[in-house]
Amino acid sequence: MRYYIHTFGCQMNVADSERLASALEKLGYQMAERPEQADVLVVNTCVVRQSAEEKAYGWLHMVRPLKERRPDRVVAVMGCLVGVKGNEGLRRAFPWVDVFMPPADPRPLVEFLARRVDEGRAVADLERMVRYALQDEELVLPLSERGRKVTAYVPVVHGCSFGCTFCIIPYRRGPERSRPVGQVVAEVRALAEQGVREVTLLGQIVDRYGKDIPDGPDLADLLRAVHEVEGIQRIRFLTSHPSFMTDRIIEAVAELPKVCEHIEIPVQAGNDEVLARMRRGYTVADYKRVVEKIRRRIPNASIATDIIVGFCGETEEQFMDTYRLVEELEFDVVHIAKYSPRPGTVAWRTMADDVPPEEKERRFRMLEELYERISRRKNEALIGQTVEILVEDRNEKGKWFGRTRNNKLVFFEDGDRDWRGQLVSVRITSAGPWSLQGVPVEPSLEPGRSPR
Ligand code: SAH
Repeated sequence: MRYYIHTFGCQMNVADSERLASALEKLGYQMAERPEQADVLVVNTCVVRQSAEEKAYGWLHMVRPLKERRPDRVVAVMGCLVGVKGNEGLRRAFPWVDVFMPPADPRPLVEFLARRVDEGRAVADLERMVRYALQDEELVLPLSERGRKVTAYVPVVHGCSFGCTFCIIPYRRGPERSRPVGQVVAEVRALAEQGVREVTLLGQIVDRYGKDIPDGPDLADLLRAVHEVEGIQRIRFLTSHPSFMTDRIIEAVAELPKVCEHIEIPVQAGNDEVLARMRRGYTVADYKRVVEKIRRRIPNASIATDIIVGFCGETEEQFMDTYRLVEELEFDVVHIAKYSPRPGTVAWRTMADDVPPEEKERRFRMLEELYERISRRKNEALIGQTVEILVEDRNEKGKWFGRTRNNKLVFFEDGDRDWRGQLVSVRITSAGPWSLQGVPVEPSLEPGRSPR
């Protein structure tokens, strides 16, 4: 029996799909390479922007003939299109879907399949089977990825209780819930045992980790605990909110050798009025102070940010404030999105989406060009230098690729050796805005002891 999972959206969705895959593997299913070969078809959906939601609908229509050809095939929808509260309209619109699953919760499909395969079984047996399949401490990678997969995502905070006016995520993923340290560590250990070398801890606001637990641990405590797991060489975390980036967290990143010097900290806009309308809870000056603090304590840290252009009421002058902030802070990564009103959010209810689409497009392109210029300049400065990468994978053309500690994509060519999962020093020979090319210069350093 085979399953196929198609994943749209963010890293959290990728992580949720991986956990669903683990549960299906434990029920005895194996990963199929193509949807047509699968007995269980799953789409994990995203609704953060209208365009993402449309892709999910497109996929659901695409699988309809597959279901009609083989009605015993199970079709399931997971993620933010379904939401934690369920979505009755969806059931009516897509009657060929068998199972609807909220984000991060494989249980409905696991129960559906367990009941189907084992109709004669005692209820207690079924319960045991379901419980085993859903146990995170025994997370298993798909057979084809065990010993091969180098990096993995680990959710540490589910949901979000923050109230950014543009954002639909809290409505679909529910309130903030931090996972216990022990559970996260057990999961990371399971991944390490299956060959994973780098983990990225995930949360909508990951630097709020533990704040929903009275006297709970914080992200710094969690980083220290994960740091102890043998076999793991690198640790990352995302996404951080500027208001919760404490000195303790910055200190942990600076001190712990396995924690990479890369911080994803979305600013969203470079103008105080826009930030207030977004209800982000900080000013541009606050944000700059946080970035300065990070850069002072971790001099080679790379800083990634997210920006929304064309938010309700954003004037040309306000957009230019954002533009100038990107120019000034020279972000290492800028994820740019055009504002898309999301039904149910505060902005959708109370503000006019008054920046025309062509204008959003123009602002998007201006920022993208600026970002490309900054990236190109920063990358070209690395030519001739030696960086250390963790090799993740190899493409069809025989190119190996991996990332530096501060998240730059580097590749080199080598048809002979298997470099997967190794820390390799690479001398950079050429650079573009989005990647660097180089040649390996020395054997891998001792794991986990990589110098800064
Ligand atoms: N938790 C993160 C955001 C996660 S959503 C934070 O606090 O910043 C990922 C990104 O999608 C956001 O950073 C934002 O830039 C973008 N985004 C969210 N809602 C959007 C909307 N309605 N329209 C356009 N982009 C949006």
